[in-house]
Amino acid sequence: MDNETFRHWSKVAADWGADYRKSLADFPVRPDLVPGEIDAQLARSAPETGEAMEAIFEDFKTRIVPGMTHWQHPRFFAYFPSNSAPVAVIADYLVTAMASQCMLWQTAPAATELETRVLDWMRQGLGLPDGFSGVIQDSASSATLAAVLVMRERALDWAGNKKGLSGAKPLRIYASDQVHTSIDRAIWFAGIGEENLVRVPSIGPLRSADPTLLKRAIEKDLADGFLPAGIIASVGGTSVGGTDDVEAMCTVAQDHNLYVHVDAAWAGSAMICPEYRHYWQGVEHADSIVFNPHKWLGTQFDLSAHFVKDPASLTKTLAIQPEYLKTQTDGDDRYPLINYSEWSVPLGRRFRALKLWFLLRFHGLEGLRQMIRNHVEWAELLAEKIRATDGFEIVTEPMLSLFTFRYLRTQGESLDDVNLRLINAINKDGRTYLTQTKIDGKFVIRLQIGQFETSPDDVQIAYDAITECAERL
Ligand SMILES: *Cc1c(COP(=O)(O)O)cnc(C)c1O
Repeated sequence: MDNETFRHWSKVAADWGADYRKSLADFPVRPDLVPGEIDAQLARSAPETGEAMEAIFEDFKTRIVPGMTHWQHPRFFAYFPSNSAPVAVIADYLVTAMASQCMLWQTAPAATELETRVLDWMRQGLGLPDGFSGVIQDSASSATLAAVLVMRERALDWAGNKKGLSGAKPLRIYASDQVHTSIDRAIWFAGIGEENLVRVPSIGPLRSADPTLLKRAIEKDLADGFLPAGIIASVGGTSVGGTDDVEAMCTVAQDHNLYVHVDAAWAGSAMICPEYRHYWQGVEHADSIVFNPHKWLGTQFDLSAHFVKDPASLTKTLAIQPEYLKTQTDGDDRYPLINYSEWSVPLGRRFRALKLWFLLRFHGLEGLRQMIRNHVEWAELLAEKIRATDGFEIVTEPMLSLFTFRYLRTQGESLDDVNLRLINAINKDGRTYLTQTKIDGKFVIRLQIGQFETSPDDVQIAYDAITECAERL
């Protein structure tokens, strides 16, 4: 593609992006499709000769866009948000145009130094003390895998990478029964084995791992010849927002010299507001913390902020220096040089820091705080309204902007069945999009508010859609 054509189509794409965002509220949040419907419209093999951009762009508009679920829709209340603030989209365009590979300081000096700086802005914004260093990981799953690998290596006196795990005592990792499945997978991939993930029963309204049972489990494991390696605390679990007592978990960890990783992938964004920080009280005692600015804060996938107290334990676990990656620059005491690929599982790295820098500068922390406070307040109001509506109950109270509810009027079928019918009807209706979960054996409908463009009117429309669909069941 020559440069003038590139310029032209970049402008077309920018126009399309602005028009798309403007008209989003008119689309159903999720398309009404059957599997294979999009594939049926796609050529069976790649063309031998190039096609005109007009045709490619037209097919994008007519074949791809109608088959998308619109995560930026102001009434997307499913899962967790995956926001892309317009300012972060612009930064990502620039990044893609440069296509830097930010694995080493030398391959991307400005990207590396900006990453260090902007994560330190973020650290301060979250109220974390000095002494945490940040790195951008592609996902919370990767950050958690890196943390579990550190737990493993630390417990094995740094011998696991060399010798493997055979012959070692079985390692144990502890977490509540509310943690995200990325924890299970990190434990599989680290070779620790799912049977060695000890799930401590959760208690109380926040569904926190019971610290007494946690302590007992560790002591029993020690007596039985296991090797405890670390604890994973959840702050804002995906199902119903399960939140551990981080302070209590860290105290138990200190008694047994265990590494603590905090998964606050969704809820971490809210910690820019001081009034929500009680949810992770004691977090300064943790060794590793991950949260996803690509969820609530608006830096679009993929940007996970990972803070660690001791970067040396991360690089000791993950760094490798083949001849072809050695560079001639080392930095000095004044500015020690960082090669961020030594802090993460993948080698290659996009220039992700730019979109976070643009975002924080454009909105300011105060602008982002206001958005989050609105979402939390609107979720609380909506939960009250649903509670006050005949035939509905709130099953789990709002944790920040996430709560669950269910419908109680059945025509002879079970409550689980009627709620499955209700959520299918709501999602077919298209005005809003919700997902479900199971808690205490009950099928419940989950609702979170977290979209950049959501207004109180959208919340009202979602309420109308829910109650009208229930009436019509
Ligand atoms: C979304 C989420 C994850 C996974 O995040 P990725 O960045 O997609 O890997 C992990 N834990 C919690 C609590 C989450 O909400």
